[in-house]
Amino acid sequence: MKEYLKKLYNKKRETYFKLLANDLKNKHKKFIVTVNPETLMLSENDLELKNILEDKNNSFVPDGIAVVKAARKVGIKISERITGIDIAEYLLKTANENKYSIYLFGAKEEVISILIDKIKKEYSNINILGYSNGYVKNRDEIMEDIIRKNPDICMVALGIPHQEKIIAKYYSKAKKGIYIGVGGSFDVLSGTKKRAPKIFIKLNLEWLYRIITEPSRLKRFWNSNVKFMFKIKK
Ligand code: UDP
Repeated sequence: MKEYLKKLYNKKRETYFKLLANDLKNKHKKFIVTVNPETLMLSENDLELKNILEDKNNSFVPDGIAVVKAARKVGIKISERITGIDIAEYLLKTANENKYSIYLFGAKEEVISILIDKIKKEYSNINILGYSNGYVKNRDEIMEDIIRKNPDICMVALGIPHQEKIIAKYYSKAKKGIYIGVGGSFDVLSGTKKRAPKIFIKLNLEWLYRIITEPSRLKRFWNSNVKFMFKIKK
């Protein structure tokens, strides 16, 4: 566990965004893995996910206060959390400013179509190469289309660990581009779901807001965050 915490990006969010800007400008490839307790706990019994976390070429960001605090507890300093949605928002902004191309894969059909309409209106310089909802029968077909179209940015919102695994399966074929699994970000970016109010985010209580508004998350929270905390304590 400590090995994975050590690999997390430890500087400020803004500094990370500068790295991304540079990658995009120079058409580098990057696979960003947002690491949270769920990723780490699942990787204990999931070899495919474990391999993704061990791949030195991937870029790991601390997605959530639990990993930031856990790292600090074992003597690893991390500046702040950098969530999937923070990165997704930044990528849309920079794509609009620089006319980059994107491909979005994931979420329900109504969510992705609202988001695409919003991008066309609010980020009109973005070149949308393609998109798909995340409930298609054949996910591989979509990934093959993504590889063919060669976007500057590819965001996959299928939830952990499916998004990371499908990216890992195709990433070696990508010629360029930022690839990232963004979880429930499309729901929030489309306006279909609300992100926690700013005060929750500021106080690092976003996880609490998500449980209150979606009590069905409690079991997932127990299996990932609570077990993770116990493990770190031990
Ligand atoms: N999802 C999908 N296909 C599936 C299962 C889930 O596209 O087969 C989407 C779902 O609609 C949601 C996202 O994956 O937009 C996962 O969201 P969740 O809130 O679980 O992710 P988190 O942010 O908690 O990692």
